[in-house]
Amino acid sequence: MTSAWALLDQGYDVTILSDRWADRKNRITSQIAGALWEYPPAVCGKHTDAIPLCHSKGWAMTSYKIFEEIVTKLGETDGIDHGVRMRVANFFFDTPLEAHPDQLEKWEEICSLSHTIKGLKRSADLIQHHSIDQKAGMKDAYQLISPAVDTDVYMMWLHFVLSCKGATFVTERIKGSLLDQEEELLSRFDAYAMINATGLSALELAGDKTVYPLRGAIIRVKNDGTKFPKLTEALAVTHDETYGTDEDMVFIVPRNDNILILGGITEPHEWNLNLTVDTPVIKRMRERCNAFVPGLENAEYDDETDLLQGLRPFRGSNVRVERETATRKDGSYSRIVHTYGQGGSGFSLSFGCAGTIVSLVQEIEASKPPAKMELVNAVCY
Ligand SMILES: Cc1cc2nc3c(=O)[nH]c(=O)nc-3n(C[C@H](O)[C@H](O)[C@H](O)COP(=O)(O)OP(=O)(O)OC[C@H]3O[C@@H](n4cnc5c(N)ncnc54)[C@H](O)[C@@H]3O)c2cc1C
Repeated sequence: MTSAWALLDQGYDVTILSDRWADRKNRITSQIAGALWEYPPAVCGKHTDAIPLCHSKGWAMTSYKIFEEIVTKLGETDGIDHGVRMRVANFFFDTPLEAHPDQLEKWEEICSLSHTIKGLKRSADLIQHHSIDQKAGMKDAYQLISPAVDTDVYMMWLHFVLSCKGATFVTERIKGSLLDQEEELLSRFDAYAMINATGLSALELAGDKTVYPLRGAIIRVKNDGTKFPKLTEALAVTHDETYGTDEDMVFIVPRNDNILILGGITEPHEWNLNLTVDTPVIKRMRERCNAFVPGLENAEYDDETDLLQGLRPFRGSNVRVERETATRKDGSYSRIVHTYGQGGSGFSLSFGCAGTIVSLVQEIEASKPPAKMELVNAVCY
């Protein structure tokens, strides 16, 4: 959807084809997301390969600026709500940052971007300020102002914006390899190029066997100030793979003025969506969150739904934003451009990836040969 926006703004005619759209009764992954903007790598599951990580940082910074512009130019509530808010986000650590070289480096990079990323502050006092229970064992913290998205509202708004910009919507499921049916699809939709933004379906459509899910879940509770002090800031603890446990992540984010979401879990290669609030892994997730907000154990579930679960679309060697490198049967360059595998950072990277998609489509128009993403110069921050 964000790629479509960027292409429409460059004057392209865009048809968006999908088998499902944002729907509160049957949510797509982009609605389940915690949707807190994070500087890469994100708190859940890491994308650590150096070059793609460098790309991701550039994409995240572009997205930050555009989300911020959405809020500053359109206001928060004037007209149709877009669901984006600039919120204080606090990140906590169980040792001083100096004991986590990666985390220290990340913080120092964030500080070097203070002309764009607002509200930077590092202090262990944030632990006390937020009344975080000692048993959570936190020793260091920093905060920044981060875009946070009410995904249901935002995805509907995105649909509306794209309609206004002239996009055509087609509801259909594509089966099999895109490359094998490229010419037929391009001709059927009278299209010059095709963007594959299908998340986990890239396993089938791009024949990419390295695509896999990282199951996640969020509990939704009422945040009206009656059962615990109303929270307006995000609180998070990074999932650290070096611990050898998947259960160290805390992710508490106000979804909007009324709902607080509690996460998170990171379960690689788990396709089943069979979790409930009583599943042990979800109970443990809730207990980790309870230690972070006094009184949270008394919180009432949201009336609409208590738990959302979804599959973050990961990929072995990181996010893929590149042209199809295989040639068509007649030896000509493919006109497929991929953007998938954004994992737990689909919102953080969205506008940045969309900008790259425009450049890649322009390359096709200029009859340039496709290049591997790793070989394209990244904007390193
Ligand atoms: C629990 C959880 C927490 C998360 N937290 C964050 C966060 O804090 N910050 C962040 O940035 N990201 C977060 N994410 C990640 C984010 O949700 C994803 O990276 C993002 O939604 C992926 O977007 P997408 O458009 O690629 O995929 P999707 O939202 O899945 O969209 C793909 C679309 O393609 C369509 N499609 C698929 N296959 C086909 C087909 N064969 N034919 C036709 N149409 C097809 C689908 O119907 C769908 O509409 C989180 C995800 C989860 C599950």
